[in-house]
Amino acid sequence: MSSRIHFQVFESESTFLHPRTSFSPTTERFEVRIDPLTGRTGHFSHFGAIKPQKLNLESYATPEIKGFCPFCLENRDRVTPKFTDDVVAGGRLVRNEACLIPNLFPYDIHSGVLIMTDHHVVPLDNLSEERLFDSVFLGVDFLKKIKAINPELPYHLMTWNYMPPSGGGLVHPHQQYFATPNPGNQFLDELKSSEVFYKANGSNYWSELIEVEHKQGERFIGQIGTSYWLSSFVSLGLLGEILCVFPDVFDVTRFTERHVKDLVAGLLKIFKYYISTDIYSFNASLFFGPEGQRSFACHFRIAARTFLNMRDYAPDLNFFQALLGEPVSVIRPEELCIALKEYF
Ligand SMILES: [Zn+2]
Repeated sequence: MSSRIHFQVFESESTFLHPRTSFSPTTERFEVRIDPLTGRTGHFSHFGAIKPQKLNLESYATPEIKGFCPFCLENRDRVTPKFTDDVVAGGRLVRNEACLIPNLFPYDIHSGVLIMTDHHVVPLDNLSEERLFDSVFLGVDFLKKIKAINPELPYHLMTWNYMPPSGGGLVHPHQQYFATPNPGNQFLDELKSSEVFYKANGSNYWSELIEVEHKQGERFIGQIGTSYWLSSFVSLGLLGEILCVFPDVFDVTRFTERHVKDLVAGLLKIFKYYISTDIYSFNASLFFGPEGQRSFACHFRIAARTFLNMRDYAPDLNFFQALLGEPVSVIRPEELCIALKEYF
């Protein structure tokens, strides 16, 4: 059976006269890849040229930089909001250090913020198994509760900005959980394309992706229990992107303690890789499709973030992402996969 998933790469090059070699002709290569699910493109160029910048995490704890943090324990009870009793009795959900509150500036009908830790500055190596498990377990539990209250809201997702290069407004570790009819363009493009694939082929894209990637071996990082870890064929992040698929989960009600444990186990391995390569920041998401479908499997995505430099804090996203809607990456997914396999 030939695969119905196609990995298309358009390799190309640009030739110019290089000032550092007495203006002799130099050729640089780049790639444009097409996402096998959505058909959206991504550029790969400038290979290896951008290195993650070290962050001075201790400086975030100094009074002049820290300023006022609503998530710190001395302020939390007084200044953070509570859910109405019909949503969460008692106003907040708590599991050890994890504490879930409504967003003071909601993006949706149910816009939960999960404060992950008591401490304000928590480096990657202190995002322990317990802290990660409690956070994701409590967040998913919240989504399940919301689903029972408002079953008409079809989509559920977690999003996460960690540390300032990711765009996170607060250093204090936190995630966001949404139940919504408007989950964003990436989610909806994937959802629609997954349905089209299912109808056309009678099979699930995500299961088939795992099978094809496993067979090819170039981007298959590993399996942990119910979870399958890949480097994405088209990276949404400049420093690459890692995708984790749960092929047996199609909506949030099916995401069990076992799935949370497997997700956390993989995350801990990725964090070890991040620490070894001076990555201090990332964006992550966890998508759950609507109930009653078998085409759109649950998946988690994580993309490393950095400042381009520490002189003027240039972000690693620019006109490409902001205005062209085009991701750019400086690392090939196949190389990212090799680097990560050491940790799996
Ligand atoms: Zn804080």
